[in-house]
Amino acid sequence: MPESTHPEADAAAEASTNFIHLIIDRDIAEDKYQGKPVQTRFPPEPNGYLHIGHAKAICLNFSTAEKYGGACNLRFDDTNPVKEDTEYVDSIEEDVRWLGFKWTGLYFASDYFDTMYECALKLIRNGKAFVDDLSADEIRAYRGTLTEPGRESPHRTRGAEENLRLFEEMRASRYADGEKVLRAKIDMASPNINLRDPVLYRIARAEHHNTGNQWCIYPMYDYAHPIEDAIEGITHSICTLEFEDHRPLYDWVLEATEWPLPPRQIEFARLNLTDTVMSKRYLKALVENGGVEGWDDPRMPTIAGIRRRGYTPEAIRDFCERIGVSKSNSTVDIALLEHCAREDLKPKVESRNVVVDPVKVVITNYPAGGGEEVRVENNKDDPAMGTRALPFSGELYIDGADFMEVPEKKYFRLFPGNEVRFKGAYFVKCNEVCKDEAGAVTELRCTYDPETKSGGGPEPRKVKGTIHWVDAKTAVKIQIRYYGHLMLEGENGEPALNPDSLIEKEGWAEPALAGAKPGERFQFFRHGYYIADETLTNESSKVFNEIVGLKSSWK
Ligand code: ATP
Ligand code: MG
Repeated sequence: MPESTHPEADAAAEASTNFIHLIIDRDIAEDKYQGKPVQTRFPPEPNGYLHIGHAKAICLNFSTAEKYGGACNLRFDDTNPVKEDTEYVDSIEEDVRWLGFKWTGLYFASDYFDTMYECALKLIRNGKAFVDDLSADEIRAYRGTLTEPGRESPHRTRGAEENLRLFEEMRASRYADGEKVLRAKIDMASPNINLRDPVLYRIARAEHHNTGNQWCIYPMYDYAHPIEDAIEGITHSICTLEFEDHRPLYDWVLEATEWPLPPRQIEFARLNLTDTVMSKRYLKALVENGGVEGWDDPRMPTIAGIRRRGYTPEAIRDFCERIGVSKSNSTVDIALLEHCAREDLKPKVESRNVVVDPVKVVITNYPAGGGEEVRVENNKDDPAMGTRALPFSGELYIDGADFMEVPEKKYFRLFPGNEVRFKGAYFVKCNEVCKDEAGAVTELRCTYDPETKSGGGPEPRKVKGTIHWVDAKTAVKIQIRYYGHLMLEGENGEPALNPDSLIEKEGWAEPALAGAKPGERFQFFRHGYYIADETLTNESSKVFNEIVGLKSSWK
């Protein structure tokens, strides 16, 4: 059994009764959509890069459509002109594609502004919406509280003709920002505050990334979203839990604007992860303040960051499946994401020898000037992945962590007087520790036993430790970037940026890594999984990101 299996998560994934699928099963059984195939959508607002929480929503929408033989759209929910940008549109498309999903239609909510406007005219004509002159502050004051009903606006009784004229004038730029709004006429005494005559349109003179200056009135999310869904023929509109209280308004808009076969909104709990943050606003601030290298900094929980860090789309999809969907908010241990990365990479990638904090080993009984090639396996779990040649000689480097001058208890690696196996090569015994004037170890003088070559038959005696090594003459220098979690628990329990979230080290690698291409992944034997950084790796410089260590910290 692999050491890092994750029985709880496996069980949860297997037993997963996806409640959303139960609802859809019922709708299909009742033929609620009259034979129409299931249609979902992923509707990001293009105001930042996507993060791992969005990956959960992406997986859910696309895999639900796939499960029912339906379709899933990518829709940019770009009804707020101020925060949106085409850079974000491009990154979102790239991220969804990278995760392995193909959208059926690609749409912009702003393309529906005309239909939304028409729907608003219909509401006004039917006496279901009115133009209000109250200011934002007054509207808030009139709204009431959870325990007290609201008060009706004095403009609520305006006739349809007057409302039509005022709304058309709002559109025609006759009023200042904030001077008038269009509100639904529902129920100021509703226990659900979202139904107390919510604002449907506001005036905002801002250039929109798609429609430019064509509009100076913009629809509010709660009004726009159901219409967007209805225009695209969405059957099941999956969103996060904070919209649960908005569902009555979602349904009201669809009914009042008279859409046939209206979509059904279903809410699920958003993903939260330990040791990181997932608010776009915070991530954006980090990028803008230079706390990280950019949206794709490998410490970021963005899909771009996770991709550059070396995670595979398969690992992310596996993670999203294992966490399942639920109706109650919770925080998932980031160790589960790491576990998924490890499980995915273990059978896929080849191993390479790399040492850090190197200690030089001189084998005093090795033929002077001699050298040879030994063979080591590419993946210890899969013989089919073959073997490769490694140069071996009388001068080698081992990991600093694999030598202790004064060994602690149960330390089975190299120390004076001890013999270990050099993986794939020979038994090597440490006889003498040489140091410089400052007391730092300069080399270990060792002897090897030529009778103990790996693969050469039964071993003459047992040794307790096996360590890896690189040949000193042919080793290549690489840069390694180790990443800690982005956030730590700071003083007073508030999350704080982890100052040690990036540690850079030099490594000495077997010669094969000199040819590593950007994006290539390896296991560094006994260390973990690494990727040649896409941005920083080139012909002359090899920079590796630690994807994840070998050992699971999952409890
Ligand atoms: P943020 O609060 O981070 O800015 P958002 O909800 O404003 O995120 P949107 O672009 O509006 O981001 O989200 C697109 C879709 O992704 C929505 O359906 C939203 O519910 C979903 N989503 C966003 N964050 C999460 C999360 N942490 N877990 C699951 N789904 C999420
Ligand atoms: Mg949002």
